[in-house]
Amino acid sequence: MSEFTNVAEIFGSNVFNDAVMQERLPKKVYKELKKTIEEGKELDLATADVIAHEMKEWAIEKGATHYTHWFQPLTGVTAEKHDSFISAPDKNGKVLMSFSGKELIKGEPDASSFPSGGLRATFEARGYTAWDCTSPAFVRQDAAGATLCIPTAFCSYTGEALDQKTPLLRSMEAINTEALRLLRLFGNTTSGRVTPSVGPEQEYFLVDKAKYLQRKDLIYTGRTLFGAMPPKGQELDDHYFGNIRQRIAAFMKEVNEELWKLGVTAKTQHNEVAPAQHELAPIYAECNVAVDHNQIVMKTLKMVACRHGLQCLLHEKPFAGVNGSGKHNNWSITTDDGINLLDPGTTPHENIQFLLVLACILKAVDTHADLLRESAADVGNDHRLGANEAPPAIISVFLGEQLEDVVEQLISTGEATHSLKGGKLETGVKTLPDLTKDATDRNRTSPFAFTGNKFEFRMVGSKDSIAAPNIVLNTIVAEAFAEACDVLEKADDFEMAVHDLIKKYLTEHQRIIFNGNGYSDAWVEEAERRGLPNIKSMVDAIPALTTDKAIGLFEKFHVFTKAELESRAEIQYETYAKAINIEAKAMIDIASKQIIPAVIKYTKSLADTVNSVTAAGAEASVQSELLAETSGLLSDTKVALQKLIDLDKKSEEVPEGTELAHYFHEEIVPAMAELRAPVDALEMIVDKEMWPMPSYGDLMFEV
Ligand code: ADP
Ligand code: MG
Repeated sequence: MSEFTNVAEIFGSNVFNDAVMQERLPKKVYKELKKTIEEGKELDLATADVIAHEMKEWAIEKGATHYTHWFQPLTGVTAEKHDSFISAPDKNGKVLMSFSGKELIKGEPDASSFPSGGLRATFEARGYTAWDCTSPAFVRQDAAGATLCIPTAFCSYTGEALDQKTPLLRSMEAINTEALRLLRLFGNTTSGRVTPSVGPEQEYFLVDKAKYLQRKDLIYTGRTLFGAMPPKGQELDDHYFGNIRQRIAAFMKEVNEELWKLGVTAKTQHNEVAPAQHELAPIYAECNVAVDHNQIVMKTLKMVACRHGLQCLLHEKPFAGVNGSGKHNNWSITTDDGINLLDPGTTPHENIQFLLVLACILKAVDTHADLLRESAADVGNDHRLGANEAPPAIISVFLGEQLEDVVEQLISTGEATHSLKGGKLETGVKTLPDLTKDATDRNRTSPFAFTGNKFEFRMVGSKDSIAAPNIVLNTIVAEAFAEACDVLEKADDFEMAVHDLIKKYLTEHQRIIFNGNGYSDAWVEEAERRGLPNIKSMVDAIPALTTDKAIGLFEKFHVFTKAELESRAEIQYETYAKAINIEAKAMIDIASKQIIPAVIKYTKSLADTVNSVTAAGAEASVQSELLAETSGLLSDTKVALQKLIDLDKKSEEVPEGTELAHYFHEEIVPAMAELRAPVDALEMIVDKEMWPMPSYGDLMFEV
């Protein structure tokens, strides 16, 4: 039996959280810091010195030798540079461990080696990291020993954001300001702060490390570029919520323990739809902490997998033919005194504040569907959104029967008089309890679904940071709140004005509501009739970032400047081109050096057999047929390979940026598919002993 885990004891044990601060910091310093955290008051250096000292002492007790400013540049992953606490030796050769307030609040990494999308020239190298005290520091223990990690924002010498956190914090400010305005209109005088709450559900695959190391495609690109379907896929639905194998269970146990130590509320775990696919969800947290924690989750999954001889695949589509992985971003808006603005209560038709919030969100999502779609754009996610997989690339909102009924009443009569009730669910078995039924069923096919007291944005990719979607959600909803407040603050008759506004928004934006099957072709046609955008690829999504509409929105709420938006678009194009280029080069490498040589060996063995069998006087028609078929596919492979090589070479002449990204999308991606087809067909013919890498079956079913 495995050892007993005292969860309550280990939870948060490596976090410099409020309890630790209260215990260790002088009262006055603690109060100053709380003011900074809660009200954004500037921290003076003397106070920072005291905090840094205590933080260091605490970290050293946890075994820390180093500290790092931990930040999120636009690479999709986190970045860190470690500095030890040692100071220069004294004349006796002894060192002291030191950490100053200045070192805590400011770092100076070289900004020129991170993506800046033209904001920084290589010679203008200076960048700064600044302590984000709203996300607690933590000590991470790994092979490097223990490191004090300080969450930071990262910006350039000229103050432009070069990271995910800066705009996220700005967007949280925006929604706080506008939501408070709205609450005041409804007579709320008690709430002091409004924050978005986020709970991201993380999907991932686990494969055996030794097998992974035999797949160059997985190593270089995170996904398989070749691979024939095994006899069994996910069609039996026996993996979803299925029995968790012991090897995986041991992995999950350790992941949970590591996460709990870091204060991440790992809550739910289960097997997902595809073989070898799993999910982990924490309890929701304040938006910026949730974003940081999701980065910690992804890193922990990878690290613990290694210790268990496993490899964690976070790519959105590691395998063709079975489900890919996403991240469901559950989002709501909560006040510091515990009111969830998305809670309809039991009689939503009477809850005018909720109906206004809902109408504002529908308006925001309809107006900025293109931005929301873009926020989930990621190279790997192109295999899901708009391809043959869930969710569709069309943004629509699922409200469920109860709310849809209220909305219909409001639109048709201007008045909502009743709310549908859930009622009782009778199981027909005496010994089972009768269940109270929710007023609304679920809809798994909707990209943006209301689920009781929150919205679930289901488009986000599994590997992607959840910062971008939340930046967009916070800002577009802030805008809708602001516009509503602009009208309502001037109204003579508030009640009447709210009613009119709700009806107006619902009427104008009802096209975004869709409760049906989002995967059906009928919906694609219907959405087109409604004029909803259907943006099928990342390269087509990127322009949404720099429309006048987007620039107006983000500048108004000081979330992004025009230059920052342009830089982000440029980085997206660059990322796309580079990622596909790596995939194409990996395919060329694998096909040339592994697959073609293996098939040649196989054809030789067939040819030898044909010769010897014929010489022995027997008929070798099966071998001859196989030889002909294999040779034919080999020749198709060679032709497709040469085409890909030539096209990839030609990419060097295409101008960088938009044009190059489109070139990779429109020329290289189809050429890659052309090369994959004959290779996958060959895999079904060639002797398994001779095939140069583990098959899909080996990867997905032998973990
Ligand atoms: P599901 O049935 O969709 O899996 P859960 O209730 O399990 O829903 O929640 C999924 C995620 O949503 C969890 O991370 C959970 O903490 C989060 N969540 C629940 N309530 C809220 C809320 N009010 N705001 C944001 N996230 C929430
Ligand atoms: Mg869910």
